[in-house]
Amino acid sequence: MINKIDHIGIAVKNLESAIELYKKLGFEIEDIEEVPEQKVRVAIIPVGESKIELIEATSEESVIAKFVEKRGEGIHHIAVNVDNISRALQNAKESGLALIDEEPKKGVGGKRIAFVHPKSTKGVLLEFVEG
Ligand code: ZN
Repeated sequence: MINKIDHIGIAVKNLESAIELYKKLGFEIEDIEEVPEQKVRVAIIPVGESKIELIEATSEESVIAKFVEKRGEGIHHIAVNVDNISRALQNAKESGLALIDEEPKKGVGGKRIAFVHPKSTKGVLLEFVEG
């Protein structure tokens, strides 16, 4: 089951300046976390039941670095919370949808995540987040 929008991921060039900007807009930063598996640093901003995640690449190899270089800063993905990520991936696969991750990997907060390819979602990179 898909429960809610978990977060919206926004790719930024510089996390500190992005944080300053979002603070000026009235947002409060809950935490800053490095996710070595994804080669990113993430500022977590609670917004009601959901979050905004500002994401900065920590390596040129990061998909976020490539995204910012190609398309500039902006919305990178939308993440939805699911009860069971293995089932969500299996359902998508059985429906013939293209997955970026066939198996869950580790995301922010150590949660299990996986991405669905934008060609199967009308151009939006979709992330499943379990729990
Ligand atoms: Zn995300």
